[in-house]
Amino acid sequence: MRKRNAETSLTHDVIAALNALPGFLAWRSQAGVVKSRGGGWVHLAPAGTADVVGLYGPHGVFFAVETKASHPDACKCKTCVAQRAWAEAVVARGGKYMRARSVHAVLRALAEVPPDRMAIP
Ligand SMILES: [Zn+2]
Repeated sequence: MRKRNAETSLTHDVIAALNALPGFLAWRSQAGVVKSRGGGWVHLAPAGTADVVGLYGPHGVFFAVETKASHPDACKCKTCVAQRAWAEAVVARGGKYMRARSVHAVLRALAEVPPDRMAIP
């Protein structure tokens, strides 16, 4: 079992906070490919998929939250580039997307404008 890092902890806290709000159904999404104990490859969500995804409200508005504990906003690493491309694909299809460095930031954003009305680029 790997130790939880800051980003994993933030992801967990964001999911708990969202699921405590009315109308939210949020869960963790892990991207990439990992080796199973048996030696096979397990394909997770596509590269760039946000850490937290879910649905909001009676009309099923899709939302995603990328939890960022370390990488800067303009980071050029392969993971961050894939995340920005995924975010653009989500927004282009009417989904809502935000990057967050704290639970407070998520709650503040969603308290101001719920996912069915928000337009975060
Ligand atoms: Zn990065």
